[in-house]
Amino acid sequence: MAIKIIVKDPDPVLREMCKPVTKINSNIHKLLNDMADTMYDAEGVGLAAPQIGILKRVIVMDVGDDHGLIELINPEVIEKEGEQFGPEGCLSIPGKTGDVRRAQRVKVKGLDRDGNEIVIEGTDLLARCILHEVDHLNGVLYTDLAEKMYRGEQHGGES
Ligand SMILES: [Zn+2]
Repeated sequence: MAIKIIVKDPDPVLREMCKPVTKINSNIHKLLNDMADTMYDAEGVGLAAPQIGILKRVIVMDVGDDHGLIELINPEVIEKEGEQFGPEGCLSIPGKTGDVRRAQRVKVKGLDRDGNEIVIEGTDLLARCILHEVDHLNGVLYTDLAEKMYRGEQHGGES
């Protein structure tokens, strides 16, 4: 278990396409543990592997709801519904916030740390967080999508 340094924009590693995990082994378990430690230490609500410099399709999230810590390997958004528009922040882009339009409800499937397929449904902040983290795996930052940017941290949670 270790707290890693969070890569900051404009580091080019944040613009890479991440590779799917083909084998879930102790390295992946260690990655998941380190990502959760790093996310909680930074008081974030989500973290994607490229944010600690690892180009693998792995995300962790905890928006403080009943789901608790969510770990997802090779996440894939399978359903999007509705629309929400509001502030979003990123641990890799400190000191900034932007208004982003996202789906209101999202279903994502992926593998848990035991390799079982799981489906997570999220609304509101969790839906926003899922889409933000999956974007990270494709080299997309929320600043690419924001309709308005402003200074200051987003206290609803950065990810
Ligand atoms: Zn982010």
